[in-house]
Amino acid sequence: MSDLKTIPKTALNEWIQRLRRRFRVVGPRPKLGQFVFAEIETAAQMALDYPTTCVPPKKYLFPQQETLLQYHLDGSHIQAVIETEPTVIFGIHTCDVQATRLFDHIFSQGFTDQHYQARREDIYLISIECLSPCSAHAYCHDMGTSHLPEAADLHLTDLGEVYAVHINTPKGESLIADTFVEEFSPAWQQSYETVISEKQAAFHKRLNFPVEALNDLLRERYSSSLWQAIGDKCLVCGMCTQVCPTCVCFNVVDEANLTQTKGQRTRHWDSCQATTFALVAGGHNFREARMARQRHRFMRKGKYMHDAYGMLGCVGCGRCGETCLVDITPIEVLNALYQEQNGEPFVPEHEMELSYENVTARGAGVAVDLHAGASQNNGRTHPH
Ligand code: SF4
Ligand code: SF4
Repeated sequence: MSDLKTIPKTALNEWIQRLRRRFRVVGPRPKLGQFVFAEIETAAQMALDYPTTCVPPKKYLFPQQETLLQYHLDGSHIQAVIETEPTVIFGIHTCDVQATRLFDHIFSQGFTDQHYQARREDIYLISIECLSPCSAHAYCHDMGTSHLPEAADLHLTDLGEVYAVHINTPKGESLIADTFVEEFSPAWQQSYETVISEKQAAFHKRLNFPVEALNDLLRERYSSSLWQAIGDKCLVCGMCTQVCPTCVCFNVVDEANLTQTKGQRTRHWDSCQATTFALVAGGHNFREARMARQRHRFMRKGKYMHDAYGMLGCVGCGRCGETCLVDITPIEVLNALYQEQNGEPFVPEHEMELSYENVTARGAGVAVDLHAGASQNNGRTHPH
């Protein structure tokens, strides 16, 4: 059970300055017409009412590229490299917090991933309540992630002059200690309830069925002809997986120096939509067809992860639908499967539109965020 306080908006910048004495503080910043999580120096640099970011803040927990270990090829030296830096992620949306919870499960199952674990311990989450849907493709309300006030270390709700602050964990308490929090008076309680009830009215269910039925629906529609239709449309660009807060697949690469005396092992985000993702030794590719890779993506989000972790692998952020150049969107795909299950034909809402404007507007997001030359974990390095 969390504690509730308020913090005046006028105190926000001073709070940020105090946090910056102990942490790298990152928050949602406008950039080239989009929003990206990046380091902030003042509260004014943040846009806390941002719709969504191109790339989720998972990049701070699970960087696009990282060195896992360094070695000498004669076997005399093998050393893990753990890069981490105490970081506050300020203004993370609750769907992205839920994705972090999923990662916490995945990276601690069986073999604990020490690279993820070290960074996770150094990351402090301050979430913010979304008061309206962030995009036409978001369906967080269906996925149960639009209102999670007790999931992050601290959670802010905009009440006009102040933010209501849910203090959920000891980490959260440490962030708010010695700041300007005030008691949560009955008047603020009334105001909070009004804001949340208006917010709930603004979010509509987008799926035509309850999300509890998703796992069974996907199992029963495994052989649906819809997968072929989606596969035929897909361009194999992999953008849907690059922007997804729950996509966790990576590739591991060994890179030796020119003299073959030493090297390093790195890991990089991978994509199940890539043609060679399921290519194995001997040349067999067990998901060679685009339809098989698309089916796998949806199965993994709505069934396989749920089977493995008891949590869905989609948080309904809508980024994949927003980014896909040919309008393959989860809401449409899942509703089509449900229609098909009920004997109704699938009629796509969207047709392929490969105009220059369409491609640049959507495809630029990942480039704006990830290719800006910034390493997400350029802080102190601990060799282990
Ligand atoms: S599958 Fe799409 S909607 Fe679901 S979490 Fe990933 S990017 Fe967001
Ligand atoms: S973004 Fe769309 S076109 Fe690109 S790989 Fe994903 S589903 Fe296919």
